[in-house]
Formats: sequence, structure tokens, C-alpha cells
Amino acid sequence: MNIATVKASTLKAKPDWNDLGFGKYFTDYMFTMEYTEGTGWHDAKIVPYGPVSLDPGAMVLHYAQEVFEGMKAYRAKDGRILIFRPEMNARRMMRSCDRLVMPQLPEEMFVEAVKAIVAAQKDWVPALPGTTLYIRPFMYADDVVIGVHPGKTYKFVIILTPVGSYYAEGINPVKIHVEEEYVRAAIGGTGFCKCGGNYAASIIAQEKVMKEGYSQVLWLDGAERKYVEEVGTMNVMFKIDGEVWTAPLDGSILPGVTRDSCITILKDWGVHVREELIPIDFLMDAGKSGKLEEAFGVGTAAVISPIGLLRYKGDVVTINDFKTGPLAKKLYDFLTGMQYGDLPDKYGWIHEVK
Ligand SMILES: *Cc1c(COP(=O)(O)O)cnc(C)c1O
Repeated sequence: MNIATVKASTLKAKPDWNDLGFGKYFTDYMFTMEYTEGTGWHDAKIVPYGPVSLDPGAMVLHYAQEVFEGMKAYRAKDGRILIFRPEMNARRMMRSCDRLVMPQLPEEMFVEAVKAIVAAQKDWVPALPGTTLYIRPFMYADDVVIGVHPGKTYKFVIILTPVGSYYAEGINPVKIHVEEEYVRAAIGGTGFCKCGGNYAASIIAQEKVMKEGYSQVLWLDGAERKYVEEVGTMNVMFKIDGEVWTAPLDGSILPGVTRDSCITILKDWGVHVREELIPIDFLMDAGKSGKLEEAFGVGTAAVISPIGLLRYKGDVVTINDFKTGPLAKKLYDFLTGMQYGDLPDKYGWIHEVK
């Protein structure tokens, strides 16, 4: 791929690395590329970070043809910049695009673009423990027609934001509300796609529970509201009676890279993993009888997020005395250890950005 560079006239002052928050600061440059029906992808560029121009009639603003990805760049102690399983994000974006009738961006082009923009912004990859450079690739239809059909022109953009820990409290347990009114996705819909539309429909539930001191909602399946699916921006795992349960990839849940990595690691550790439907009543009963030993969300942004309390229909169970469990801690240490280059990469998951 031929990538042109447009120089910025001035560079930004770097943020306070001790107070990055999440998604508040953006780097000096971004990656952009255009798609035109008939021509394909063209005009790959690294340009100064700034507004994109969009006609008010642009398709994405009306019919939400948009997909995105989320990954991170990590700074190793020896200064190397590492990224984690970018090919998984590339392939997932291709599946999201397929479902939303958007053009495919080939895996090699996706990975090359990510590496190019991260390499150009190396000095924005923070070095303090727990900090990373969050990478947000996204694609949207920008042609101008009012009428429901697939777009003919698209834009692919990658922006970068240096971030601290996802949760202000660090890896401490959170309170989760099991949602019975709203649903996130149903089989046949777009639950397996990382698309803005899924989030637009879910914000209402999140808003409702945050006012009550809960940090996220646990979604149930769209048809029966009986089976556990995922938590907000993460997949979810439960350790019950020595085994780890997580919902199967049946089309309505997002196939997380962290989920896949945790399953591989857990199996390697000899832990029995059950990718099976998890009835919410079974889960709450396990909570009451003490068989639910640990619960945690898994996703790139928060890595591992322990769940200390679950509320369902006015019933509340506390998990592991509202403390981070040993398995959640072990997974967190192992995954981040690999991602920051402190532990050997026995799976071939780490790419160095040069
Ligand atoms: C991104 C995302 C996840 C986690 O996926 P990772 O690849 O592990 O970051 C889980 N659920 C939803 C809804 C998501 O958008």
C-alpha cells in the first residue's frame, strides 16, 4: 500500500501521562483512506488529526452504515511498541462489513494501516504501568443520497488516543444490573458486529442503571430474556464449581479477541471452559448457593473487569465477597504480561511495530 503523508504545521503538547483518562486526548496524526465503487480502496494517507468533512446528506448520518474496531498499542520496558492479535480485529471488521453490506478491507491492508499510523505516532504510546495507546479504526458510508441502499463511497479512518486504565478505580469489582427491559441484540440481527448502531440502541439501559450506582448492564438474549449474553462493552465469564462458563458465539454476541484469548489460556491451564447457554436463573442460584466463585467481564478496553455484585429482578448476589478473585487476577496478569512484553509470547499473538 502506498501511504502519503501530509505534515502538520504544529504538533500538540503531550497530555499529563498520569491523568490520561479514557479517550480524551488524540494524537497529532490520523490515517484515512477512501473507497469508491468500481475503483476500490484508494488515497491512503497519514494526515494531521482533525475534523472530517461530511455532507448533511451523507448515508451514515441517516442509516448508520458504520463499523468500528478497538485495539491497543503497548510500550514494553525496553521501549518496543507492541500490538496484540491485530489480524483478529481485521477479520472481525470484515465480518461486520459483510453484514452491513459495506466493502471489505483486506486483512493485510488493515494491519498495515494500523502499524503505519502507530509507527508514525510512537512518541504517543505512554510508558506508565497500565497506560496504552488506544487504536480506533472505523469505516462509514459518506456518499450523499437519501434512500435506503448500500453506499457507493466509504471512508476508513484510524484515530489514536493515549489512555489510562478504563475504570478510574483500576481492576476493582463493579456492580452489574441484569437488564430485563431492553435487549442489545437478537439472532438474525447485528449482535456479532462491532457497529455503532448496536451501541446507539443500548445507551438507554446503561444510563438508567448508572444513576443507581451500577457500572454496566448484563444483557440477556433477545428472544426469551433467559440466557446471559454479555456485559456492556465486554464478553463475560463465570467460574461456577471450578469450571468457567461463557456464552457461545451464536450470532447475537460480539466475538471478542479477549474472550478468545482467555479461552485459549484457560484451556492451557487445564481449566474446563464451557461455551454454553447460561440461564440467568441458574446463575443467580449458583450465586446464592456459593457455587459462583468468580465473575468477570473480558474486553480490550478494561482487559479483565471483576464483577462483585449482580442484581436481577430485585434479587442481589455478592460474588467472592466483592473482591477480585484469584482467576481474574491471574488472567489479568498473564494477558497484560504478554501484551507489555514482560512474558514470553508462546502463542505468536504479539506484533512489534517498527
Ligand atoms: C468490543 C466489544 C467486546 C470485546 O471485544 P474485544 O475484542 O475483546 O475487545 C465485547 N462486547 C462488545 C459489545 C464489544 O463491542
